[in-house]
Amino acid sequence: MTFERYDYLVVGSGLAGLTFALRASEHVSVCVLTKAEITDSNTNWAQGGIAAAVGEADDWHLHEEDTLVAGAGLCDPTAVRFLVQQAPAAIEWLRGLGARFDLQLGREGGHSRNRIVHHADKTGWEVERVVSDAVRRNPKITVYENAFVTRLISTPEPRTVVGLTAHIADRGLKAFQGRATMLATGGAGMLYSRTTNPRVATADGIGLAKETGAEIRDMEFMQFHPTVLYNQQLQGFLVTEAMRGAGGTLRNHLGHRFMYDYDERLELAPRDIVARSVEREMQRLKTWCVYLDTTHLDSHSLQEEFPTIWEKLRKIGIQIERDWIPVTPGQHYSCGGIVTDLNGLTTVSGLYAAGEVASTGVHGANRLASNSLLEAMVFATSAAKFVQISAESTVEPIHPEQPKCVAESDAVRIRWTLQKCMSENVAVFRTNEGLRKAHETISELILEYDRLPEAPYSQYCLETANLLVAARIAVDGALARKENVGLHFNADLEASSQKSSVAERQLADGTPGQSV
Ligand SMILES: Cc1cc2nc3c(=O)[nH]c(=O)nc-3n(C[C@H](O)[C@H](O)[C@H](O)COP(=O)(O)OP(=O)(O)OC[C@H]3O[C@@H](n4cnc5c(N)ncnc54)[C@H](O)[C@@H]3O)c2cc1C
Repeated sequence: MTFERYDYLVVGSGLAGLTFALRASEHVSVCVLTKAEITDSNTNWAQGGIAAAVGEADDWHLHEEDTLVAGAGLCDPTAVRFLVQQAPAAIEWLRGLGARFDLQLGREGGHSRNRIVHHADKTGWEVERVVSDAVRRNPKITVYENAFVTRLISTPEPRTVVGLTAHIADRGLKAFQGRATMLATGGAGMLYSRTTNPRVATADGIGLAKETGAEIRDMEFMQFHPTVLYNQQLQGFLVTEAMRGAGGTLRNHLGHRFMYDYDERLELAPRDIVARSVEREMQRLKTWCVYLDTTHLDSHSLQEEFPTIWEKLRKIGIQIERDWIPVTPGQHYSCGGIVTDLNGLTTVSGLYAAGEVASTGVHGANRLASNSLLEAMVFATSAAKFVQISAESTVEPIHPEQPKCVAESDAVRIRWTLQKCMSENVAVFRTNEGLRKAHETISELILEYDRLPEAPYSQYCLETANLLVAARIAVDGALARKENVGLHFNADLEASSQKSSVAERQLADGTPGQSV
């Protein structure tokens, strides 16, 4: 097998990967490998928008403060400042590529100002459209679609990543060599039975990075979105937070606006708090969902601001100007990931990471709404600048052994068991017993995968193996964390007075909240 050579290799074609490719390609050759079609990504599905202090009554200090508050004391303040200061320039860059944004800035939970730059309720689609068009037009960038990256190639100590292997549809296994490799593989939604993420979100970057020895942290901070549609036909469909920003209210089935019982910021409290409140209300009343009520809002504005949601829900018989929308929490975003510095460099030389797979430190224990598209752009851009001056000269790579595949039917069963286990034990509320049980189940599944006979190549199997790696890291992180903070809430831990509200302490000891 010969090596195809490029200056930089990029794994993933969401906003992080394509921003890096565009920014780095000025003088060098870049190859983007992506496992489905170029637009198959979390990015393409993003609804609400991109946070940036561009409004008249706003400035980056306020955006910084809101980000730090949402992160519950665990953000890296330097990374946060860098993020919010770069935000207006990132928006301008997108506009320069042709992105169309609405004149009005939106509002979302945890933001003290209207600062969400958006394209109705399909901002991700608009953003992915302009970056993928620009990449297609760029002669310096080669794109392989349906190219599943199976392994990173690194030198022995001191470890340096010098290439990768990928399984390309209709062409089989190919090897690539590059002076730097950017992992931009997105999220880990497929760890759970109910997620807003597309099927490509299988934590591959976590598996690849772990195998190479890169540091990974904070995977226990899994963000659950409070308002995921509860409906069999449209599983996992997100009902954007911007709807609450526009005045939508949460009600239980009796019509009570229950956020009054949990947090004074009501529906616009940070996501972790709203998700816990929804979950608690469902447990208390033994219901499968709560409701988002937008019936009091202007029908014309609703249709104009949320055309996708309006249309999709209409098709399943819900008219949002007339009916309450049944919602429940669902996995949405992975706050932890591969540790990087401000330049996107991981702890392994030659290996960069950006976007949802990375942990830059900006999210701390809970991501502020609409900070992730921003993070993807800002840190991919700084990585692209840094890599030009720092990328090592190429060392001759060797072919790595390929990871093992098992029969697909076995992988289907293993993945299903894993999703059930994570959904039951490592979700919004956790307990010591549940976490220990999850640890045991995941260890057994890993052992079972290892013992099963080898089978021909299957992308589904390798994704499942990556999910197992990510699950174990998340559960170990949750077991090791000894305080309730942000998205990690273990009912067996004494709620710390500083980091959880009175309502949350009530949740820990099972007392229902009082109406105020
Ligand atoms: C429904 C929804 C709504 C959201 N709304 C918002 C919002 O309003 N604002 C906001 O800021 N954030 C939002 N988010 C989060 C945000 O969309 C993501 O965090 C962000 O898009 C991640 O970008 P990324 O480039 O890191 O990853 P992605 O966009 O997910 O791209 C990952 C890419 O990697 C590829 N890939 C993965 N593994 C491999 C492999 N082994 N080999 C090759 N390719 C691989 C995938 O195919 C994909 O192309 C939302 C997310 C969802 C799911």
